[in-house]
Amino acid sequence: MKNYTDTYQYKGLRKQLVDQLRKKGITDENVLTAINNIPRHFFLDSAFSKIAYEDRAFPIAEGQTISQPYTVAYQTQLLEIKPYDKVLEIGTGSVYQASVLAEMGAKVFTIERQKKLFEQNKLFIFKSKYPNIKFFYGDGFEGLPTFAPFDKVIITAAAPYVPPKLIQQLKTGGYMVIPIDLGPFQQMLRLTKLADGTYSEERFENFSFVPMLEGKSGN
Ligand code: SAH
Repeated sequence: MKNYTDTYQYKGLRKQLVDQLRKKGITDENVLTAINNIPRHFFLDSAFSKIAYEDRAFPIAEGQTISQPYTVAYQTQLLEIKPYDKVLEIGTGSVYQASVLAEMGAKVFTIERQKKLFEQNKLFIFKSKYPNIKFFYGDGFEGLPTFAPFDKVIITAAAPYVPPKLIQQLKTGGYMVIPIDLGPFQQMLRLTKLADGTYSEERFENFSFVPMLEGKSGN
């Protein structure tokens, strides 16, 4: 069950969360404003409403998670989102990360490999608020060649390697933010696509994600 009532109490908790993110080093005011505007408890089972604004990940359906707000803020900040950026997201999950991007004015193309999550997301509460999110059921390793090229690509699951097709679908000068699996944790990388089709690489902090898996799951 979901709780779709926003209250002053939840708004206050959100503001506290934003203050925490600022203290942890998030400086992009557009990211912080988006997080302040979006009721994260709408994306979780109502059992989690009271703790939805703690800076931690929570379970959603199908053994998956909604990423920690710090992780969402960190990845979004690295993307340097501008209005109308065309962004490919791998791992729709709860749609929270996609909503942050949409709130910032990006055109979001998001792929989920789990059929049940994809089906649930058809009932997404903010469908009319964020017509700039397009949902796809598929394998993120394949990307969306029909809609390429993208200004930015964000992967929200632990990637075993840099998916070559996603590099192909990135514009020259575009960014891919990807947590690369190093075993016990994942290191956040920002890749910049170069004119010759290769990419340069910057390395950031370590995080923990659910795995990016090959192929689609029919349930
Ligand atoms: N961005 C999400 C985080 C969800 S966790 C949020 O804000 O809630 C990661 C998600 O990636 C899971 O839903 C998982 O099913 C999905 N996933 C894993 N491998 C994938 C792949 N190859 N293609 C698409 N989605 C994938």
